[in-house]
Amino acid sequence: QQGASSTRPLFEPVSEDSVLYCRHQVLRIKPKNEEEIKKLQHLETMGHLELDFWRNPTAPSFPADVRIPAKRVQLVKAFLESHGFEYSVLINDLQVDKEKQDMAHSQQKDRSTATFNYGTYHTLDSIYAELDHLASAYNDIVRKLQIGQSYEKRPLFVLKFSTGGRNRPAIWLDAGIHSREWVTQASAMWIAKQDPSTTSLLNKMDIFLLPVANPDGYVFTHTTNRMWRKTRSRNKGSLCVGVDPNRNWDAGFGGPGASNNPCSDSYHGPSANSEVEVKSIVDFIRNHGNIRAFLTLHSYSQLLMYPYGYKCTQPADYAELVRHTAAYSIRSIYDTIFRVGSICKTIYQASGGSIDWSYDYGIKYSFAFELRDTGRFGFLLPANQIIPTAEETWLGLKTIMEHVRDNP
Ligand SMILES: [Zn+2]
Repeated sequence: QQGASSTRPLFEPVSEDSVLYCRHQVLRIKPKNEEEIKKLQHLETMGHLELDFWRNPTAPSFPADVRIPAKRVQLVKAFLESHGFEYSVLINDLQVDKEKQDMAHSQQKDRSTATFNYGTYHTLDSIYAELDHLASAYNDIVRKLQIGQSYEKRPLFVLKFSTGGRNRPAIWLDAGIHSREWVTQASAMWIAKQDPSTTSLLNKMDIFLLPVANPDGYVFTHTTNRMWRKTRSRNKGSLCVGVDPNRNWDAGFGGPGASNNPCSDSYHGPSANSEVEVKSIVDFIRNHGNIRAFLTLHSYSQLLMYPYGYKCTQPADYAELVRHTAAYSIRSIYDTIFRVGSICKTIYQASGGSIDWSYDYGIKYSFAFELRDTGRFGFLLPANQIIPTAEETWLGLKTIMEHVRDNP
């Protein structure tokens, strides 16, 4: 998100006792030129409109997706029409309730069969219980580690997949740093179940998987606000809560594409690594000392991205082949097309992101995936797409992991 300015007035946070999304709409707006992009970016800074950009305006002809509260829909549409914007209604009525009902239904089924259904969304407790189950079912290969705890004191659990050796070269994979991107946590769990079988990888390398990088946010998306993206830390001098944990890394911190307004969804926080969730990963990776790939899962947009985000130059030594091969692998199963490019080129300049930090830290294979879809459902991807999403993502991840194994 662009256009953060320190003179911008803070606006009151939206009441958070169980946010309802009844009759909210998501519009897809296609800016025709730079001027229209500027106008959209300006709209975003107008707090009273309560706009939530699911996809930011970036370049002419690339669509921006924005969620609008029911009571503002008419106003925003009138604005767009009077300014000659081209837009369409992507989601006519956000059905957050339906997702809830589906979840409750499958939870009931889970309880009666005492199994974890990988094709549905789960609460944090249920995910954490399954981590224990995996660690005991595959105890020769899988171990559960705690790498820290969240702002609200929830444990940050990592699964370590290893067949032995001492401090083998390793792969880092995290999901859910943005809590509303539910298909990422769900895909990470499905992938966790596949990992024990990938012995050709595990004979040479270890894999560390953090399925819920932002547990406080994730719980909040279940209890109160399905569209919550940030951490849940309190901000000094503001009623607004949380920091965007993917603007909080020590890589161009506070630069373009991050906001200094605590009420913004892309607030970078008071300082780099201020968020304990981020700091815990940074400390873990530094202490480990032998991480060769840093992979992170986001949604949505179907992108495979590499550094940089905080600047628009590309890293010099970049492994070009592997990222295209990975995109082919993803496509090979359900014909899902992923665009490949640097963060700056594919989405927008965004500072303080994790893969920029990991790349500058020396981890050459640093990639961010934006999983399904391209906007039909956005963050509310139906549960019946979890397993297909996880399958294709795993093919892409495996391609990169094998490349790292063969090119140490
Ligand atoms: Zn994200």
